[in-house]
Amino acid sequence: MNEPVGFAVGAGLRSGHEVLSLCPTCLTTIPGRVLSTAAGVVMKKTCAEHGAFETLIATDLAAYERMRRSPRLVKLPARFGTPEAKGCPDDCGLCPAHDQHTCLAIVEITTRCNLPCPVCLADATAKGPELSLVQVLAALQLLLEAEGGPVPLQFAGGEPTLHPELLDIVRGARALGFAKMEIDSNGLLLARDARLAPALREAGLTGVYLQFDGLAAGESEFIRGRDLRAEKQAAIANCRDAGLQVVLAVTVVPGVNDQALWPLIRYAVDERLTGINFQSVVLSGRYPPELLQTKRRFTATHFMRAIEAQSGGLLVATDFLPMSCPDPRCGLLAYIVVDRDGGLLPLSRLVGDERLRRHVADLSDWDQLLRELGCAEGCDCGDARAKLAAALEGGEFFSIGFHGMMDALSFDQERARRCCVHKLTAEGKLMPFCLYNIKYRHEA
Ligand SMILES: [Zn+2]
Repeated sequence: MNEPVGFAVGAGLRSGHEVLSLCPTCLTTIPGRVLSTAAGVVMKKTCAEHGAFETLIATDLAAYERMRRSPRLVKLPARFGTPEAKGCPDDCGLCPAHDQHTCLAIVEITTRCNLPCPVCLADATAKGPELSLVQVLAALQLLLEAEGGPVPLQFAGGEPTLHPELLDIVRGARALGFAKMEIDSNGLLLARDARLAPALREAGLTGVYLQFDGLAAGESEFIRGRDLRAEKQAAIANCRDAGLQVVLAVTVVPGVNDQALWPLIRYAVDERLTGINFQSVVLSGRYPPELLQTKRRFTATHFMRAIEAQSGGLLVATDFLPMSCPDPRCGLLAYIVVDRDGGLLPLSRLVGDERLRRHVADLSDWDQLLRELGCAEGCDCGDARAKLAAALEGGEFFSIGFHGMMDALSFDQERARRCCVHKLTAEGKLMPFCLYNIKYRHEA
């Protein structure tokens, strides 16, 4: 399934399109080209000093182009943080070349972690600095000024539950007006201390983005260093009891867990969780060296193929909508109605891509969606409103996402300029999360 296959090349695309990328060795900005080959869609580039680089960025041209040409909804921030001088990506913070506001701000409140995972984007260790409550609230104040109002927040790390002032940070953020707040957590402390989840909910936290890489022991052992399944199960139970929304965050490692994605979706649905989000391992931070040697990649188009095959066609590629706020190559989303019996019905089949796309920009606006709901043009689903109402009676929404992260090999400046998932630094700078991981994390 991960082996790229041949495809028909569309008119004018054989020569590909130009990109601005980075040399993976010296991180200098260099030109590159995306083009279709027998192996799939690849990005090729050459650094004058460090030679030629090539990496797979999609399985096939048709799927890549469907994503690339998908419509965007752009809203600029109220204020840019840094002047434009050397050009993107060297002025980041955000500079006026940026082409989207912040949809999610990631605040890494500590660099410490209680797990030494072999795969770690943040390269976190047992000891390291963290931000104080005062520093976090000052950065959030600058975020409010940049955005002109609150946006969804993710407190991350390291492991954010290790921060001794986490509850005060959440309370302080709520007092500043932030309403949607989650932690990106491995769940170990949430499992061990049943009082933590209710305390976080009481402080104002709304959700937990819970790392969860597989249902088999080997998947957890390879990616996280040991079998964590019992702890994850306990963390889920504690969060659910406390009224915290749980979204599973799956790091997909080709050859380790990419053949077992559908069981994870079924598991999350059966556990009545809010959603599941997959992201591919990238060559940033800490990663097993064999990933670099095998050059195996798991991209957004691999993901759609995998789900289609593993679900036996229950979900198909066109059920996944390229995200409209970042570059559409960066994210896929499917909203599913889960009926009382656990049956799954993709919302796009009921309401049409266009209507769904407008509402995905504001993920909470379901009432408006239901008011506007009617059959999509040319839809053959029967009465969409009646079907949806029937499914929703005792049923729930469930989201399945894929975040196509970039590393230095696959970096595309256009995608970075359109990013809406931003790391908020202690100085109040906002940086596309992938770009921060590639270029700025180790400068800090
Ligand atoms: Zn170089």
